[in-house]
Amino acid sequence: MTALPRFNRVLLKLSGEALMGSEPYGIDMAMVRRVASEIRDVGQYGLELCVVVGGGNIFRGLAGAAQGMDRATADHIGMLATVMNALALNNALVHAGVQSRVLSAISMPTVCEPYIRPRALRHLEKGRVVIFAAGTGNPYFTTDTAATLRAAEMGCQAILKGTSVDGVYSSDPKKHADATRFERVSYQEVLAQQLRVMDPSAIALARDNDISVIVFSIREPGMLASVIRGEGRYTVIDAGAD
Ligand code: UDP
Repeated sequence: MTALPRFNRVLLKLSGEALMGSEPYGIDMAMVRRVASEIRDVGQYGLELCVVVGGGNIFRGLAGAAQGMDRATADHIGMLATVMNALALNNALVHAGVQSRVLSAISMPTVCEPYIRPRALRHLEKGRVVIFAAGTGNPYFTTDTAATLRAAEMGCQAILKGTSVDGVYSSDPKKHADATRFERVSYQEVLAQQLRVMDPSAIALARDNDISVIVFSIREPGMLASVIRGEGRYTVIDAGAD
């Protein structure tokens, strides 16, 4: 296991799939409640937490484009899907007694706050969880890139990427029995070996801003807190011996 430093501020990236739980599509509220209670539990470690949610459980721009929709329009729908997930998570956090705010990159002031960097920083300083919705606000990007962008803007030391697998593998462990899991892997190796963990632009942005990416399974109960304590199963992506 690769030892982790003590973090003060981190960004949790949740894929839409993570919020789907055992459902085939959409939002599994039982799963969202569990994630919310895990976020509440990490409050005891005194760290400031940002969250970026994906939207793949509802709509992916590429899937819309494949069916003949304009890519930019399809991506707008995808970003709106992330707002739905953000609102669901925020609601569960409020019910769990956690102070949290949704800040959207696409302005919709009757629904949530717009993304304004100083305002987001102020929320964090006040101990609130900040959920960034609508990705970067631009088509042709992913929420992984949005996560890296916001992590850089917020001065986060790491991105905790909660997925349905417990780290980065040499190939898809669901398809290849001989896939091996990395304890630690460099940004460069992820890019060179085209490891399917984040899109290359997100990895390059993390590398350029020296933000570690820690990949773990959010499906494993309690794993978020374990990762923050530097225990548990995860893969660290950083500069390594680059
Ligand atoms: N998206 C976008 N710009 C962004 C972030 C997301 O256009 O900055 C759209 C894109 O269509 C994407 C969808 O939102 O397919 C959902 O995001 P993503 O696929 O990253 O979600 P995840 O895989 O994490 O569930």
